[in-house]
Amino acid sequence: MELDVEKYNEMVKQEEACLFPKSYKCPVCDEDFKSLAVRKAKMIAQGTDEDLRPHFKWVDPLKYEVVVCPVCGYGAMARYFDEMIPTWRKQLQQGLPSFAKDRAYIGGNHLTYSEALKQYDIAIQSDHMAAFKESRKAYTYLKRGWVVRGKLETESDFLSEDEIRDLRQEERGCLDKALEGYMKAFSEEKFPLSGMDEHTLTYLCAALASRLGKYKDAISMLSRLMGPSVNARIKDKAYDLKENVRERLKEIEAAQRALQ
Ligand SMILES: [Zn+2]
Repeated sequence: MELDVEKYNEMVKQEEACLFPKSYKCPVCDEDFKSLAVRKAKMIAQGTDEDLRPHFKWVDPLKYEVVVCPVCGYGAMARYFDEMIPTWRKQLQQGLPSFAKDRAYIGGNHLTYSEALKQYDIAIQSDHMAAFKESRKAYTYLKRGWVVRGKLETESDFLSEDEIRDLRQEERGCLDKALEGYMKAFSEEKFPLSGMDEHTLTYLCAALASRLGKYKDAISMLSRLMGPSVNARIKDKAYDLKENVRERLKEIEAAQRALQ
């Protein structure tokens, strides 16, 4: 399909009206710089996916959640950007590849999905340089997976079949790493993790497992959310998801029987 230039320009205009250059001080090299961020007042929530990925009108804020220092190339999710201890700082100062800073996004008034994904890749590089906690690394992968999904939803009319297949694979890869990291974090770290309490994270992991086709793992995690101490909102979501997972399992079993 051809791109409707007028419609696209209008969308960009709406998105840019939600953004502003936010000031940061890099905790690795101490330089001051600015990075695009979304104005909270402009964020109009429009529901979530089954795995809690949020939707907003006018702008996908997930595209702007990575902050990259253009001087040293340190990148992180805004939530974790300032969380720094001397050991991590040293590891990052020694390990940051010089090309990361060249790829830091400095110009322009908005980010395309492809530009946003490059920012995430820089954050993932930093994650690998320092001995950050598993939950911190899992969070970057989770959000990157959601940004890939955003790209698929927004641009699928203009992508080739191969590109769509590769992006679906990329989303799965990110969500798989996020699930793996959070499962480790469950036993190694104290809650809250990435701003989530234990029940919310259990639900998220169940939803990720379900999306990745690990239905039995999903059911076993969801059964932990049926107790009286779980708040009604999470419990309702867990019931709905459990129903969906059971349906999917039944379909698979029926398909297997048909093949026998
Ligand atoms: Zn820096």
